[in-house]
Amino acid sequence: MHDVAVVGGGPAGSHVAARLVRLGYDVVVLERKQFLSEPVCCTGIISRECATTFAIDEDLIFRWANGARLFSPSGEVIRLWRPEPQAAIVDRVSFNISLASRAQGRGAHYLMGTQVRTVSVYDDRVTIEGSCNGEPLSIEVRVAVVATGFSLGFVEGLGLGRIGDSVPGVQVEVSAPGIDDVEVYCGQEVAPGFFAWLVPTSPGCALVGLLSRRSPGTYLDRLLESLEAQGKVVSTNSEPLHWGIPLKPLPETYGQRLVVVGTAAGQVKPTTGGGIYYGLLCADIAADCLDRALAVDDLSARRLARYEREWKKKLGRELRVGYWARKLYERLSDRQIEKIFDIMQSSGIIEDLQEAEDLSFDWHGGVVSRVFNYRVFLRTIAAMNIPASLMKRLTGRGRGGGQTT
Ligand SMILES: Cc1cc2nc3c(=O)[nH]c(=O)nc-3n(C[C@H](O)[C@H](O)[C@H](O)COP(=O)(O)OP(=O)(O)OC[C@H]3O[C@@H](n4cnc5c(N)ncnc54)[C@H](O)[C@@H]3O)c2cc1C
Repeated sequence: MHDVAVVGGGPAGSHVAARLVRLGYDVVVLERKQFLSEPVCCTGIISRECATTFAIDEDLIFRWANGARLFSPSGEVIRLWRPEPQAAIVDRVSFNISLASRAQGRGAHYLMGTQVRTVSVYDDRVTIEGSCNGEPLSIEVRVAVVATGFSLGFVEGLGLGRIGDSVPGVQVEVSAPGIDDVEVYCGQEVAPGFFAWLVPTSPGCALVGLLSRRSPGTYLDRLLESLEAQGKVVSTNSEPLHWGIPLKPLPETYGQRLVVVGTAAGQVKPTTGGGIYYGLLCADIAADCLDRALAVDDLSARRLARYEREWKKKLGRELRVGYWARKLYERLSDRQIEKIFDIMQSSGIIEDLQEAEDLSFDWHGGVVSRVFNYRVFLRTIAAMNIPASLMKRLTGRGRGGGQTT
């Protein structure tokens, strides 16, 4: 019997595997894909903090970004920029391969072409069943780590509840020789409730994508048409890839002999949909908790509850505040988004934010609190007929009151 089976060889799964084999456990990774070189529907933007914390190899980085240009629905631009690089745009396929190679190099065994269908937990083992390259597969392990990414049906089958909210996304590779900055487009006509992006990658190439509550493919076609008309995009180089992002965590991310990690657990920033960094952070927490539990052979739900307590201590507030900020943004009309762009520019909030020490690519709870502390911002939002309950969640106060700067 193996010690650990990790279901899913994406960043979160491979990182847990790498950590646990290094600690001396026998780890098998079950990955549906035949080859890790298969395309991934992800833009690959990670913060400098993430690149440093997880020692991401420079060779995997297409380029660094010092900021981004945000476009309002009418085309007004806010340029967020800092002198030092804020984010790395990584080659997402090579990134997956690199993390898997790190785990394999330490001794993790990867079974590629393995589609896991069921994870059955017994008092003394976990039985994992599915197929490997078309042949039935059944293996027994002491504990299972589910790291299957955006896989709502599979995760629901674990009996830990269901992800309460999610959004579909789509992305395509394009030729865009003149694009050097990350561009973000806001507006209900561009990406209803969410946003779209044009992100430069290797020289002359870029990714265009968006998240949208409805018809992402249709909105992508429109966006590509518009970007081509503006001369930003010359041609489309791939078929669109469709995938999704959870906006809320799984109600329970552990059970007897079982933990759920990464996007499968909803460990994703609800503001931007970024899931790589939070997934890796939680993979670390999972590996530490599993190590302590395996060492004393106590893989009870009670013992593994520590994993959830620890990751929620780190990310719980971020996920909550991010989700309510997202709900607020989703309610805004194009006129209201325009107004917010206007206020942010004219009142100096953007300059202040750019200079703020605590402005972070990864930690948005503090930014949300900081922005709501500007009286002018709060007044503008309060005039937008936002439900008091939502305002209270975001500010800790009612519609307009409280202390502001
Ligand atoms: C359009 C789009 C753009 C994004 N851009 C960014 C970005 O710029 N930055 C960022 O941080 N995040 C981004 N994300 C989110 C990011 O891609 C995910 O959060 C990240 O991939 C999660 O890593 P993971 O290891 O949890 O899951 P995944 O990377 O999804 O890996 C899960 C693995 O499990 C395998 N698997 C699934 N089910 C099974 C099964 N039943 N049996 C066996 N194997 C299985 C899959 O094949 C996959 O390899 C984006 C997402 C989308 C949709």
